[in-house]
Amino acid sequence: MNRHIAVLAGDGIGPEITEGAVQVLQRTAEKFGHTFTFEPLAMGGCAIDACGEPLPAHTVERCLASDSVLLGAVGGPKWDGLSGDKRPEAGLLGIRKAMGLYSNVRPAKLWKALADASPLKRNLVENGIEIIVVRELTGGIYFGKRGTFTDDAMGETAWDTEQYSVAEIERITRIACELARGRSKRVVSVDKANVLESSRLWRRTVHTYAQTHYPDVTITDMLVDNAAMQIVKNPAQFDVLLTSNMFGDILSDEAAQVTGSIGMLASSSLGDTPCGLYEPIHGSAPDIAGRDIANPIATILAAAMMLRDSFGLIAEYAAIERAIEETLAEGWRTADIMSDGMRLIGCREMARRIAEHI
Ligand code: NAD
Repeated sequence: MNRHIAVLAGDGIGPEITEGAVQVLQRTAEKFGHTFTFEPLAMGGCAIDACGEPLPAHTVERCLASDSVLLGAVGGPKWDGLSGDKRPEAGLLGIRKAMGLYSNVRPAKLWKALADASPLKRNLVENGIEIIVVRELTGGIYFGKRGTFTDDAMGETAWDTEQYSVAEIERITRIACELARGRSKRVVSVDKANVLESSRLWRRTVHTYAQTHYPDVTITDMLVDNAAMQIVKNPAQFDVLLTSNMFGDILSDEAAQVTGSIGMLASSSLGDTPCGLYEPIHGSAPDIAGRDIANPIATILAAAMMLRDSFGLIAEYAAIERAIEETLAEGWRTADIMSDGMRLIGCREMARRIAEHI
């Protein structure tokens, strides 16, 4: 298979961690007989420095022409003084919009070798956890109408609206069901249907769509307050968790936290085409940039997700996941996941060792 991958290394630790991920992708290509080509493109602070804007038109054009996009991270104190649409993070929102990405998938995985990193009791996590949070990304209350007013009766008042259409709910249900098909065939759909009208439509639509298009996938409903509790009470019960923009924002951070390590978690954003955006969930970590101490595993996992979810390369994904597992089992650790008796290595060395295990 030939695939062309756009690489937006970005700022801070972005260049180090994407270099590691590209090394692992190259090794995977060699082992499995594929050809991957990589095109570095500017986005974020580095693009502001080079051409005065966080998302140059050339970057958008080339990302749209690629088979998929790998992103490091953007931002840093150097650009903090700029106004909203001029900041590095505006590049991120811009590229998501330009690529039509409406879903965000965040697997929160606790690796058995890192069970001690979880803040939960060992008996809850000792068999590993993997919660795949599928969050609707471009609708709901974050994009609904809002406003403020002041009158005599209420005083100063503000309002926001949660709004979802059947089409928006159906397309995110499709993403969750597709993922579930390759896994446990179970989806927990999270809403607040006991109170919100938009949640009642959400619930009805998820069931109707799944029954028609994915009869082999079982949908269970859970109210969001219960879901927040269940994630810390019994995280192993979840596989694919489907939810709206705001609930997903909150629950995906909670799920990430139970795994204990920000340097190990990846995410994908997808729309109607296989061309997606894959990135670690962490930021550009300016405090450790350029010191070869960042953990590259989240970005390597993001690259692995690209192979599985954009290119359909399931065995290749599994080979990368296994390589990470074996490297951790040998005791190699970057500083953020270091514990007693383990062996400390840097970003480059971690990526090299994982690549060797492919
Ligand atoms: P951050 O995720 O960059 O860092 C938080 C803490 O985690 C820091 O102590 C950092 O050293 C550590 N950390 C993060 N990734 C790590 C890794 N791979 N290995 C080891 N340690 C790691 O969050 P922040 O400090 O709040 O933000 C820094 C900058 O990143 C800001 O400019 C912010 O806007 C930006 N940011 C970008 C994205 C993105 O590009 N998607 C996401 C979040 C934040």
